[in-house]
Amino acid sequence: MRILITGGAGFLGSHLCDYLLARGHEVICMDNLITGSTANIAHLAGHERFLFIKHDVTNYIFVEGHLDAVLHFASPASPIDYLEYPIQTLKVGALGTHKALGLAKDKKARFLLASTSEVYGDPLVHPQREDYWGNVNPIGPRGVYDEAKRFAEAMTMAYHRAHGVDTRIARIFNTYGPRMRLNDGRVVPNFVAQALRGEPLTVFGDGSQTRSFCYVSDLIEGIYRLLESNVTEPVNLGNPDEMSILEFAHKIIALSGSRSPIVFVQPEDARVRDDPKVRRPDITRARTLLGWQPQVSLEEGLRRTIEWFRTRI
Ligand code: UDP
Repeated sequence: MRILITGGAGFLGSHLCDYLLARGHEVICMDNLITGSTANIAHLAGHERFLFIKHDVTNYIFVEGHLDAVLHFASPASPIDYLEYPIQTLKVGALGTHKALGLAKDKKARFLLASTSEVYGDPLVHPQREDYWGNVNPIGPRGVYDEAKRFAEAMTMAYHRAHGVDTRIARIFNTYGPRMRLNDGRVVPNFVAQALRGEPLTVFGDGSQTRSFCYVSDLIEGIYRLLESNVTEPVNLGNPDEMSILEFAHKIIALSGSRSPIVFVQPEDARVRDDPKVRRPDITRARTLLGWQPQVSLEEGLRRTIEWFRTRI
């Protein structure tokens, strides 16, 4: 297949580039590099089936030749990035999705949207199933991301229904691994960097909020299976192994052999406002329709991630 990946120089996008190239596909990677980085794809320079195009997909997307699939992964994806780029986040989810869908329609290509567990907001149903409509504050700090992705899902279904575009929607839960940005503010890079530097781990609030963490290779495998399937309904992809953030901090300290203490902080800024109190995917749909479930344990995934960060700190 000849595949376009928007956001291809980001954390997930660049792992997707690697995966698809390894399977023999041709990859066009598009990114405006506001949160992505060429460092993530530098090792692909000169690859005969790889092309990088620097472009902001909120503007008209031009790609020469045919395309079999468009994978729309472009977006800031961490709470501090939404605070720094609120309008770009809204634009790439809304205008960028429209442009990417228009391209898929024109090329008669399959379209896959990277959506998110944030469409469930601060969920009142636990664990989250795909038929739950969510609890989102449209005007809160996360609203720019949550509402953009909700709009993106609506737009994707509209192109599917009105134009017959062959679409897929992946609702991606917290994912971690090598190539996360050290300063992206998410809990994995923050805690790992703090642990490796011997600094206190900053647990927000009382640390009782929960998350479920999926290792990146598992997630990418799920994306590929979804792309290859005929499932047009949204599918949760994530690891259902749920724990409190406080427990998670202890795990990172133990696995990195650190002597860092834990501090409880109440950031004044928007990082804790509307912080979802619980999050765990119900992956029944992915299990039954895609035959997919995570394979990498949290210990193993964290070990690989800590080693990767160790060489960069
Ligand atoms: N968190 C934390 N300390 C940090 C960064 C994050 O306690 O230094 C918490 C945050 O409040 C949230 C969880 O970790 O409850 C996951 O945060 P992240 O930003 O990774 O992603 P989210 O799941 O909130 O989108």
